[in-house]
Amino acid sequence: MIELEAALERVLSTLPSPVSEQVPLSDSLDRIAAAPVAAPISLPCFDNSAMDGYALRSTDTGTATPENPVGLAKVGQVPAGAIFSGPALESGQCIRIFTGSPLPEGADAVIMQEDTRADGETILCLDTVKPWENVRLAGEDLKRGTELVASGDRLTAGRIAVMAAFGIPTLAVGRRPKVGLVATGDELREPGATLKPGEIYESNRRALAQFVVRAGGLPVEYPLVNDRLDATTSALRRAFDECDIVATSGGVSVGEHDHVKAAFEALGGSLDFWKVRIKPGKPFVFGRVREKLLLGLPGNPISALVTFLLLARPAILRFQGATETALERAPGVLTEDLRNHGDRRHFMRVHLDGSGQVRSAGMQASHALGALLDANALLDLPPNCALHAGDPVSVLRID
Ligand code: AMP
Ligand code: MG
Repeated sequence: MIELEAALERVLSTLPSPVSEQVPLSDSLDRIAAAPVAAPISLPCFDNSAMDGYALRSTDTGTATPENPVGLAKVGQVPAGAIFSGPALESGQCIRIFTGSPLPEGADAVIMQEDTRADGETILCLDTVKPWENVRLAGEDLKRGTELVASGDRLTAGRIAVMAAFGIPTLAVGRRPKVGLVATGDELREPGATLKPGEIYESNRRALAQFVVRAGGLPVEYPLVNDRLDATTSALRRAFDECDIVATSGGVSVGEHDHVKAAFEALGGSLDFWKVRIKPGKPFVFGRVREKLLLGLPGNPISALVTFLLLARPAILRFQGATETALERAPGVLTEDLRNHGDRRHFMRVHLDGSGQVRSAGMQASHALGALLDANALLDLPPNCALHAGDPVSVLRID
């Protein structure tokens, strides 16, 4: 039995180097940058107006007030998207300007329209302006050459917005792994089937597929597999032929109907570790065949989910080159007492609300699905530990 961190280290270090592919910016949300991106130009690209108003020389406004306005001659206008075509602005003149219009030559400030009054072609300034007031200076936002994203960064909506402002049409991102989902168990039936006594609906493939997608992987769901060695071997062979990572569920315990390990070895796979010191999810199998990974998850739905989030999700992210692979942490305060009497870390399913309060999401058993209706985080409770209402905690967000 190994510790979670050691298990994770072994999984991540087994992954092949990421392969990059070019995608349109519009398809890049949550993908992982495969190369750094530097700003190709500066933003703003040119000095421009932050207001609708008049471009002028700031010194011309002198000591203007509403009672003693200063009159300037309007000599033209510059709409957004155009360049003022006339001669450089001189003292005593102003040019009508709009938000985003390039600042005309000779001007060093913009007076906002609300601080002026028009008297024919004379603009009366009712207030003074300082040099560069209401001007957005070239490069003040992002300078050309600034690193916008590093290799391994996730492309968030905000980062994509910035790339769009630079006119970047495509990005190099890490290839997404195909993740085969294979569920084993004679008792499992497809949704819609009529259950015979002793049978249950299979749910792990569907549950895991959602989290595979969230991690950027491409889930491939395979037909249900009976608890026979030959059936398990041929299902694994097909999945490993078609996928980069194969996540099985069930069949990794000590029962005589548990064939995943033997089937994997029959394919030439080598097992790395089996059993991680966590609850739920102790019987987790990790192995490799060629450059591909077997993640053998326990069958109990909660065990499968928790081990997926702690060990398979990081692998899917690192396959794409992600630097950050851990679940996001969030601080909170417990609203009830929670205990772990066992000798393994217990990843409890909890609900973190918008004000930071944390409570158990429901029954904490590895088969009990009810808690998933409300769980949006895991609480990593150390062995033999009791926490009390009011204690500060740090939870791992899962949704
Ligand atoms: P196993 O790990 O195969 O011994 O299964 C442990 C428990 O999880 C048993 O109660 C199984 O019926 C249940 N189980 C296994 N696989 C699935 C699945 N894909 N969907 C729902 N329950 C499952
Ligand atoms: Mg089974």
